[in-house]
Amino acid sequence: MLSIDEARDIVLAAVRPLPAESVPLAQALDRVLAAPVVAAHDVPRFVNSAMDGFALQAGPADRTLRIVGESRAGHPATVALGPGEAIRISTGAQVPRGADAVVMVERTTEREGTVRVEAGTTPDQNLRHAGEDMRAGTTVLQAGLRVGPAELGVAANAGVATLRCVRRPRVVVLATGDELVVPGGVLGPGQIHDSNALTLSALARRAGAEVAHAGEVPDTPQSTEAAVRAAFTMADVVLCSGGVSVGEHDHVKPAYLRAGVEERFWRVALRPGKPTWFGTRGPQLAFGLPGNPVSAMVTFLLFARPALLALQGADPGTPRERRRLTVAVPRHEARDECVRVRLDGDEATPTGPQASHVLTSMLGADALAIIPRGTGELAVGSTVEVERLPA
Ligand code: AMP
Ligand code: MG
Repeated sequence: MLSIDEARDIVLAAVRPLPAESVPLAQALDRVLAAPVVAAHDVPRFVNSAMDGFALQAGPADRTLRIVGESRAGHPATVALGPGEAIRISTGAQVPRGADAVVMVERTTEREGTVRVEAGTTPDQNLRHAGEDMRAGTTVLQAGLRVGPAELGVAANAGVATLRCVRRPRVVVLATGDELVVPGGVLGPGQIHDSNALTLSALARRAGAEVAHAGEVPDTPQSTEAAVRAAFTMADVVLCSGGVSVGEHDHVKPAYLRAGVEERFWRVALRPGKPTWFGTRGPQLAFGLPGNPVSAMVTFLLFARPALLALQGADPGTPRERRRLTVAVPRHEARDECVRVRLDGDEATPTGPQASHVLTSMLGADALAIIPRGTGELAVGSTVEVERLPA
């Protein structure tokens, strides 16, 4: 059976990054840049004042200067400044020609068209120079970066209106199972509410994907195949949950195969998540995630999320950190186990019962601790590797 890393490598090797498109800044939050952003001009573009005060020629304290004009933000002075003169100026306003310093208004007294300057000034004092923030022609945002609030602002300052972003991956989530009822639906005998369609859609959105469809599929070969075929007409990535084990009512693998998907792997030496299946259909990716709600989320995080990031040209890296266990954890003989843990300083504490149907074990979890397979238990204080869960 494949290890977690081997399975993830197979998934990532199958990813072909999606094409780029132009996105207006106002819609670009959380998108991944397909191309660098280069400053179209210096920022600041002109020398401007860091203070409300008076622009003047630098000089000693206790001078009286004649006020010959005003420079406001967005309204530069129309006159140049000469010796013995001052121009009233506000923060961000262009420094008038002839001036080389600004004195803050708090150090001045104004009287009948003149200003008494109490403080001495040195050249450049309270001036913001062109290009201090960005230089024209320099790269200010790198390709592969996810656009956050600061990136949007920097792009606007850099003089661009649209960003080249990788197209969002389109995802279809199919929760298979005759027992599934939509959330809020009345439960008949043996029925349960479908949680995987929600958790997997939410995880996919958080990973930058668009969810084109999410819903339940009955356990018949026909309905599974029809749902999978329909999914491939609109999705870059199809996520099925359930129906990938060896049961008589597990129809996902044959449905994928009949829909033209080529199997890349089935089964990972992992708990929870052993029956995880992965295949490709040209550039389209097909996941068969186990049905147990924790298994579905964990295997999404381990395998599908990196694929969605890589499709967007973002770093799919899943850096591991080391933490100490605050309790002993039993080891599985043949499979590495992903235990949901809370992190506190250098310590990791399991969230509670870890069975794969106990979805509340995901609540408050900060990370997955990878408990390597082996015999016996890992003692209190043992160091383990953890992968942080995304925000
Ligand atoms: P399966 O992988 O189809 O054998 O399902 C394994 C377990 O997960 C069973 O207990 C299912 O009832 C449960 N399960 C499957 N799909 C879902 C779902 N969408 N939401 C909640 N539980 C599910
Ligand atoms: Mg099932």
